[in-house]
Amino acid sequence: MNEAKKTVLILGGGLAGLCAAKRLTERGLQVRLIEKRDIYGGKVSSWKDEEGDWVESGTHCFFGAYQVLYDLMKEIGTYHAVDWKEHQLTYTLSGGGSFTFDTWDLPSPLHLMPAIVRNGYFTPVEMAAFARSLLPLALEKEAYAPKQDHLTFAQWATEKRFGKRLMETMFRPMALALKFIPPEEISARIILDVIETFYRLPQSSCMGFLKGAPQEYLHQPLINWSASRGAVFNSNTAVDELLFDGREIKGVQLRNGEILTADYYLSALPIHNLNKVLGDSLKKHDGFFGSLSNLEAVPVISVQIWYDKEITPIDNVLFSPDGVIPVYANLARTTTDYRTLRGEPFTGGTRFEFCVAPAAPLMGRTREEIIRMVDLDVRNCYPESSRGAKILKSTLVKIPHSVYAPLPHMEQHRPTQSTPVANLFLAGGFSRQLYYDSMGGAVMSANLAAEGIARAAGLMEL
Ligand SMILES: Cc1cc2nc3c(=O)[nH]c(=O)nc-3n(C[C@H](O)[C@H](O)[C@H](O)COP(=O)(O)OP(=O)(O)OC[C@H]3O[C@@H](n4cnc5c(N)ncnc54)[C@H](O)[C@@H]3O)c2cc1C
Repeated sequence: MNEAKKTVLILGGGLAGLCAAKRLTERGLQVRLIEKRDIYGGKVSSWKDEEGDWVESGTHCFFGAYQVLYDLMKEIGTYHAVDWKEHQLTYTLSGGGSFTFDTWDLPSPLHLMPAIVRNGYFTPVEMAAFARSLLPLALEKEAYAPKQDHLTFAQWATEKRFGKRLMETMFRPMALALKFIPPEEISARIILDVIETFYRLPQSSCMGFLKGAPQEYLHQPLINWSASRGAVFNSNTAVDELLFDGREIKGVQLRNGEILTADYYLSALPIHNLNKVLGDSLKKHDGFFGSLSNLEAVPVISVQIWYDKEITPIDNVLFSPDGVIPVYANLARTTTDYRTLRGEPFTGGTRFEFCVAPAAPLMGRTREEIIRMVDLDVRNCYPESSRGAKILKSTLVKIPHSVYAPLPHMEQHRPTQSTPVANLFLAGGFSRQLYYDSMGGAVMSANLAAEGIARAAGLMEL
């Protein structure tokens, strides 16, 4: 590494690690990043299968709210690849029905009027009861949601007595889509925060899809940007333990026995891996580190199915309250580069990608069983258009530890990016920032961690 520059070792090449590498390189630090897998991107990684089709860790929707992510993409020249969809949310129902929450291009709260008065499913009485339950949110704004972290969303809804249909049809898939856990488990804070943001910032609920693979539009351009300015990236390199001497981090023990050293260390590992590499001495050193073992990660499964006919032409994200597919999309419509089957152009058919959740009860099931369940849900939601449709191909990815589980009382355990150890910093969706565990959250955590390191290194802010 260049001796004139202060050095930073980044652990983990997910979005947080890659973004931090850029932020630190542009501040003049000498960066080395190590990643356990042979591909970068972590929970938003993508790779081509042996037949030439992209497989992703999971469907990734780009919420209008993630300005930090779009700033980053503009800097690396890939913002053009975010394909913004019509500003509406469609729910598909077992039996073949569907309804849509539309928005108007008006200032808040008028933008939500069509969603409330003409969604075609919930009655005015149901919507009025729901609106009443949100009065404290309207009055207290951002201050309200954090005070509800002691309740699950289901407990909060029971207190507010809004209808069961709203809970089952609208909020169950929303909770599962956001954090892969049901309303009986997710902290009320999360859902209320999202509702408050959607209410306050009209564009925040608008969704975009990447034109193609995150590998091509996010990770490789990020790596290229930093590598061309001197940063070093090592894949297939796993950290085993942070070596702590009671005062500072002295080095990082790799799984291959090597020890790497730097002036500063930035962990961009997911929470379950961070908990593994924190040695006992760090955990005992300060409650800050001990407290991290309260955070756990949620399992989730991603499935793709290609059908030989078009089952839905909808070019947007879709929600389903029934079955095991709370959120999904027809990639043959939403994602230009994914109109392929076995590497060849694919037209006239459907390429669905599904988030399968809650996944805990399904992790032990076989691939065939899970595909069968998902296919059944498709046929229940689209009894007419799926009639006679044949499956041409399917893929399945099981992720035992994905985003951190935002259960009640967990917010207090989310760490800041600066730690009580002066040369150790943390980034990652689980760390404390505005957007919880998401792409926006990963980027914001990296920005904050890079600022912390730049301050510690005595560098001027850019
Ligand atoms: C199925 C699914 C769907 C999602 N959908 C959305 C969505 O629609 N919108 C959205 O905004 N977010 C979504 N997310 C969340 C989003 O992907 C994550 O919040 C974000 O990618 C987290 O990035 P990260 O860098 O913090 O962590 P990670 O992506 O987990 O990166 C951590 C990296 O550390 C590496 N690592 C682990 N252990 C070691 C070790 N010992 N040594 C070296 N490296 C190691 C990992 O391999 C990984 O590359 C989704 C997540 C999943 C799983």
